[in-house]
Amino acid sequence: MHLEVNQVSKEFVTSRGPLLALQDISLHVETGEFVCVVGSSGSGKSTLLRLVAGLDLPTMGEIVVDGAQVIGPGRDRGMVFQKYTLYPWMSVADNVGFGLKLQGVPAAERRKQVQYFLNVVGLTRFAKAYPRELSGGMQQRVAIARALANQPKILLMDEPFGALDVQTKENMQTFLLKLWEETQTTILMITHDVEEAIFLAQRIYVLSAHPGTIVEEIEISLPAGVAEDLHAVKHDPQFL
Ligand code: ADP
Ligand code: MG
Repeated sequence: MHLEVNQVSKEFVTSRGPLLALQDISLHVETGEFVCVVGSSGSGKSTLLRLVAGLDLPTMGEIVVDGAQVIGPGRDRGMVFQKYTLYPWMSVADNVGFGLKLQGVPAAERRKQVQYFLNVVGLTRFAKAYPRELSGGMQQRVAIARALANQPKILLMDEPFGALDVQTKENMQTFLLKLWEETQTTILMITHDVEEAIFLAQRIYVLSAHPGTIVEEIEISLPAGVAEDLHAVKHDPQFL
């Protein structure tokens, strides 16, 4: 997997005239990497992720996944948003299996896949529950399982834990890091939380605002096995 964003700019036409949301953005993500883009509110993070997802098109530049230019949404890119990501009228299992159903995967195979991915996110017991019966963190785990069930080449996450309380957020960060280590999923995550980015990502791009421009690329190297005790490490002054 090789994702490349090449000199991408995005201009919106607004009632007050043109708005340059992103200017000359270049970045890349390689197989198995966990990359974060951090930036303050309004710096263009969601716009960037929407472009990578193919939900919108760049004004200039191009986005390329494994040699193919992104011209729309595709199964090779799984999405997890901050909120409202689950279908409230569907059970957890049906949410996770929805993409597979659209692809025409037969019911028996679908059930197997759904079970597998619910197990990955530790929610096997909740297959028949409805989203409203789950906590915010659990709902995000269902959203992650649903994205993974399509077996995307890369998981795109837009502030996935932004709406959660502090404790749930920390639990989910630990969960995601373990999931990344165990499943070797390639992840591009957008967040305004610098601390979150430092403890999750191997590489960070820093986006500055007005217009959104990448001002820095940072390599993070934490000791091996950090996932086991992410939040103990976090409070160890040696690593701050
Ligand atoms: P972030 O996710 O970092 O908070 P956004 O990508 O949502 O930032 O927005 C970046 C800038 O682009 C903001 O000034 C926002 O108002 C503007 N913007 C985003 N989407 C649109 C749109 N569809 N039309 C017009 N302006 C937009
Ligand atoms: Mg945003």
